[in-house]
Amino acid sequence: MEEMIPLFEDEYAGQPAPKRVLAYMQKKQENDQPIVGTYCAYAPIEIMQAMGLTPAILCAFAKATIASAETVLPANLCPLIKSSYGFIQEGSCPFFSMAGAVVAETTCDGKKKMFELAAEVKPLHVMDLPQLPDEVEAKENWTRMIRKLQGFLEETFNRTATDLQIEESIKKSNKRNQLMRKIFDYAAIHPPVINWQEMFDISFMALPYDVDDAVPVLEGIIERLERRVAEGVHYGSQNSPRVLVTGSPVGGDALKIYKIIEQCGGVVVTPDCCTGLKLFAKDFEEDMADPAEALAKRYLQIPCSCMTPNEGRLEALSEMIEHFKPDAVIDFVLTACHSYNVESYKVGQYISEKHDMPFLKIETDYSDNDEGQIRTKVQALFEIID
Ligand code: SF4
Ligand code: SF4
Repeated sequence: MEEMIPLFEDEYAGQPAPKRVLAYMQKKQENDQPIVGTYCAYAPIEIMQAMGLTPAILCAFAKATIASAETVLPANLCPLIKSSYGFIQEGSCPFFSMAGAVVAETTCDGKKKMFELAAEVKPLHVMDLPQLPDEVEAKENWTRMIRKLQGFLEETFNRTATDLQIEESIKKSNKRNQLMRKIFDYAAIHPPVINWQEMFDISFMALPYDVDDAVPVLEGIIERLERRVAEGVHYGSQNSPRVLVTGSPVGGDALKIYKIIEQCGGVVVTPDCCTGLKLFAKDFEEDMADPAEALAKRYLQIPCSCMTPNEGRLEALSEMIEHFKPDAVIDFVLTACHSYNVESYKVGQYISEKHDMPFLKIETDYSDNDEGQIRTKVQALFEIID
């Protein structure tokens, strides 16, 4: 196989994704673009960007901070919440330290209660997320919450955003989303010409970057992917099991799931989570009379398991299966995340009955002591595909 053309040609190529983003954030802060911390995909970053603020995804994926979190939080809580709080307690998340404020949402009870503790450390605004997305009130209420957030940010950072600026921000996000979908399309090729690490690194960069800064980088990446196609280079082989990974967000120590799939000879063709394709999958409606309503409409379409019913996730899975042609679906569930855990049953049934495809649920945390067990399960899954 020919040598793989690197997708990033900067000094951070090959380094953990947060390093590149941190250097970018530092520049933004020096250039009078204050940082706002976010924890969740429902944070409407377009409002922040419209007023010249820079959203930063806060650290939440390391086993290293869990022990200190457990001195305050119960041990039987989701590792994502414990890790997030551990970073705050230890003061070891550089993005949290830089942030002038944090935007939070009522996605799950554990997070909600953790935010009360985090609010003692940093100004924190909680958005009340409607969780019955099909109800008529949901859009109206989320639009109101988005406007309330705007008020909080305007007051905290002494900035404003006109509707015109929010509309511009929406259009820029659509441009970024289209480019991101184009990049993920290279995983739909058989065998894929992009791997999970690259998709993760690109997603990690694309979301918090100003779209004006992200677009040239993304266009450069597409050019390099085209060169890979022209040179016939790819990951895995025609026979490598293609895996769609759905479920809880994956990052840091949770990346073990992608690594194990790769070590067992598989290729991840769709990371369907909030640190993957989920946020780029759909566009905002442009030129609506109220741009905050356009934001509300799109954000409520995010198929997180906190929503009920969450039919959107099943529809999205069918679209991804059609497009990326996986051989199997792995549902990644973080321990003690009740919503993803319970929903896994419905997802598994849907995948087996509607798509007649092997399905594997992996429930795990950030530790590495179950890697052997996970490897055995993934190997067994791949044997069925063979
Ligand atoms: S999985 Fe749900 S709660 Fe977690 S980041 Fe995504 S949208 Fe937010
Ligand atoms: S993974 Fe589940 S329990 Fe953990 S923060 Fe997300 S929604 Fe809450």
